[in-house]
Amino acid sequence: MKTLIVYAHPEPTSLNGSLKDLAVSTLETAGHEVRVSDLYAMNWKAVVDAADYGPDASSPLKVALDSGRAFDAGTLTPDVRAEQGKLLWADTIIFQFPLWWYAMPAILKGWVDRVFTYHFAYGVGEHSDTRYGERFGEGTLAGRKALLSVTAGGPESHYAARGINGPIDDLLFPIHHGILYYPGIEVLPPFVLYGTDRMTGEDYPDVAKAWEQRLLTLESTEPIAFRRQNFGDYEIPSLHLKEGLEPAGRTGFRLHVRG
Ligand SMILES: Cc1cc2nc3c(=O)[nH]c(=O)nc-3n(C[C@H](O)[C@H](O)[C@H](O)COP(=O)(O)OP(=O)(O)OC[C@H]3O[C@@H](n4cnc5c(N)ncnc54)[C@H](O)[C@@H]3O)c2cc1C
Repeated sequence: MKTLIVYAHPEPTSLNGSLKDLAVSTLETAGHEVRVSDLYAMNWKAVVDAADYGPDASSPLKVALDSGRAFDAGTLTPDVRAEQGKLLWADTIIFQFPLWWYAMPAILKGWVDRVFTYHFAYGVGEHSDTRYGERFGEGTLAGRKALLSVTAGGPESHYAARGINGPIDDLLFPIHHGILYYPGIEVLPPFVLYGTDRMTGEDYPDVAKAWEQRLLTLESTEPIAFRRQNFGDYEIPSLHLKEGLEPAGRTGFRLHVRG
């Protein structure tokens, strides 16, 4: 595998830092190539603004159009071009981050905002009566797999079906489906560690073992069976799931998963 690890934690000695280091050593020892984008260490610029498009920025600023034009012209900033190059190089992408306010840290969201540009990650492909662009199962990043490795302070029961935070699959749906599956990446079931704020050094060996196990079985892990957009499950252009495709009683985000 060629694995890109996108890592977002400000403290190198954190649990997230340890999990990132363990992923690098485990994968390299198993003979895989690994590259790491350590966003805090890179001092990653986390906000999109006119400076991203230099003198070519439109006024008023049109982020999507400007980013697509700069992508086409090869004039995106070097940091963004480097990350797009890493994504095209990789066949597997691991995101390592703590759950902050039910979501990814801002620096990682900013990485997505700036790297997943128009014409690269969205605005790809033709629209017709049978196709609505290349997205959700097709797109620039098709053929790649991604895995979220997430640490949460709350215990697992808070993320269960009736838990106060809602199911973890629901919280991660915007990333899994809206960010990763959108440009064509297949999404592996996440590796989630719960109750991490109460973890002690004694808990770490078991955690490390579980993480190593996931890493060494990535190639044989089945992705989440999200429905592909242009292959008959959805009406076009409404993009409603066709009636009767879902198992009886299923609602919500799970509608978009087959089986
Ligand atoms: C802004 C913010 C928002 C948050 N929002 C949420 C939320 O919405 N939902 C939620 O559930 N939680 C939330 N949290 C909690 C957060 O998810 C956890 O604090 C985080 O996941 C813990 O990861 P860490 O890498 O920072 O852990 P660390 O604090 O670095 O480590 C946690 C523990 O792991 C152990 N440990 C770490 N590394 C090792 C090692 N190498 N060897 C042995 N032991 C080790 C230590 O005992 C340590 O105390 C939030 C926290 C913040 C700061």
